[in-house]
Amino acid sequence: MAKVGINLVTGSIQQKDSIVGIDLGTTNSLVAIVRPDTRQPIALRETDGLALVPSIVHFDAYGNPLVGNAARDRLTDAPERTIYSAKRLMGKSYNDLSEHAAQFSYKIIDDNTDSLVKVQVDDRFFTPIELSSEILRELKHRAEHILKTPVSKAVITVPAYFNDAQRQATRDAGKLAGLDVLRIINEPTAASLAYGLGVKADEEKTIAVYDLGGGTFDVSILHITNGIFEVLSTHGDTYLGGDDMDRAIANHWRASDDEWRNTEDKSLLQRLRLAAEEAKKQLSTQDRFTTEINGREVVLDRSHFNKLIEPLVARTLDSCRQALRDAGLDIHSIDEVVMVGGSTRVPLVKERVQSFFGKKVHDELNPDEVVALGAAVQADILAGNNTDMLLLDVTPLSLGIETMGGLMDVLIPRNSKIPNKAGRQYTTQKDGQSGMRISVFQGERDLVQDNRKLAEFNLTGIPAMPAGLPKVEVSFLIDADGILKVSAKELRSGVEQTIEVKPQYGLTDQEVEKMLMDSLQHARTDIELRALVEATTEAQQMLDTTEKFLSKHKDFLEPAEIELTRSHMAKLQSAIESKDKDLIQKETERLNDVSRPYAERVMDAALKEAMKGKKIM
Ligand code: ADP
Ligand code: MG
Repeated sequence: MAKVGINLVTGSIQQKDSIVGIDLGTTNSLVAIVRPDTRQPIALRETDGLALVPSIVHFDAYGNPLVGNAARDRLTDAPERTIYSAKRLMGKSYNDLSEHAAQFSYKIIDDNTDSLVKVQVDDRFFTPIELSSEILRELKHRAEHILKTPVSKAVITVPAYFNDAQRQATRDAGKLAGLDVLRIINEPTAASLAYGLGVKADEEKTIAVYDLGGGTFDVSILHITNGIFEVLSTHGDTYLGGDDMDRAIANHWRASDDEWRNTEDKSLLQRLRLAAEEAKKQLSTQDRFTTEINGREVVLDRSHFNKLIEPLVARTLDSCRQALRDAGLDIHSIDEVVMVGGSTRVPLVKERVQSFFGKKVHDELNPDEVVALGAAVQADILAGNNTDMLLLDVTPLSLGIETMGGLMDVLIPRNSKIPNKAGRQYTTQKDGQSGMRISVFQGERDLVQDNRKLAEFNLTGIPAMPAGLPKVEVSFLIDADGILKVSAKELRSGVEQTIEVKPQYGLTDQEVEKMLMDSLQHARTDIELRALVEATTEAQQMLDTTEKFLSKHKDFLEPAEIELTRSHMAKLQSAIESKDKDLIQKETERLNDVSRPYAERVMDAALKEAMKGKKIM
């Protein structure tokens, strides 16, 4: 028998713990649910009919937060205490942002460049997690107000290119807002779910999700089989979106007026920008826009607008081309194209994307709501109201650890499916070595110094053993949210250590792209460097063993032999310093040739010694 709860405060009948879907966007955020009666996902709207909440937080003089439209109204008169685009700061250090720091009208703390950024308002400091949590808290209240029931569980979406740090930060923001975040899912995956693509059993589809929002653009290629979603590739530009269209229009108007061209009047500039956005939106459904600014008539027609934004649209198509290339697919393998983001309402955008892929795109749902709708569908699945589906993502960059000589040893290659598990055995370099440093890196280059360090820890308490004997098993585990756990265990003694990797700072998709480009560009030098490092490591080991041998067995050797060996050791040492791989290899071989006969002699002697006491019958 089903139980029914009654909310004593509101008197309404309480539904079974509803889980909401949340699109935490850079520009706008919103909540959606699957309606229990119709089983359809819907965006939650206040009585004003609006579902979108601008992702803006304003702090008043007492430090009280104001979120959404009310905060947006303060952008002009109180820019230094009105925080927009907090999503861009998630999991970032000042170094990651410095290039764009000037674009923010509020204060980003820049004293400690490697640690996570904070935003300063008066004498208070806010982390991006706190700022996002203010938005999530507002969404939670909104949902509770509309549904008339407490809301404590949510599925939150993130861009497919978000890394571990950014996903973890989003999860933390949810927790801080009093939400139990059941899952973090990728925005393109959510958009496909909203359209019900790939939901049917034994359906196989390849989908392109084109997402042009307010300030960011990305395109993802998904492959869906039997309800399993896999991101094949993702590409984009985190500084390209509807704001750039507004800017293009405003600049065009400024250029057409001598007085406006050089104006520094902040409020005039702001008025121009707002009118530009209004023009853009109107031109999505009308052919012509006119308004008056400071007593002057400004005009824009659709064809001129198209000319202004053409280069922006062309850039997004370049990304589509690249995403296809990364996925190893051609245009004909794309079965469906899904349009996401408010800026895909622009007719030229729709047209161009349609003709690029050569097929009708999905635009039946509101493009700025579709991600939240999909999150609600996923929430519904998690609530057990729908047949379970697995959601698979991929790692954007390879993950590995540092091994001897600073080499990157990859455990989970880039584009591996998530969740994922990998392990490998390592050993010690020195006799009696009791600790081992495990440094975790992300990137495609052969030397760790060119990759990004995510974390580092020490495995301690390894019992004394000769070098090479301990077996240290390092395992990587990436969970369904894309969060990495690294553990190291010495198998002979059982000594173990585990850490959850919460990287210090994240990577933008451009940085990921750059790291990939770098790895291609440096592929040849990297291979040479790797060979040099390997030769050097081998030579160093040869020197160490020879040194050990000399001090242990000097009685077996003639002074002349010792001198000969020493001179070869010196030659090998200087070969190492010369960083000439061929020379190092040659000198290693020579030293080996010189010392091998001694070693054999010692072995023989040891054998004789061992036989001495024994009677041979
Ligand atoms: P985000 O995902 O970045 O949070 P949205 O998907 O909500 O952003 O998109 C916001 C952008 O969509 C803004 O630049 C806004 O001006 C633009 N936009 C909204 N409605 C329209 C429209 N009718 N025509 C053109 N652009 C629009
Ligand atoms: Mg969005």
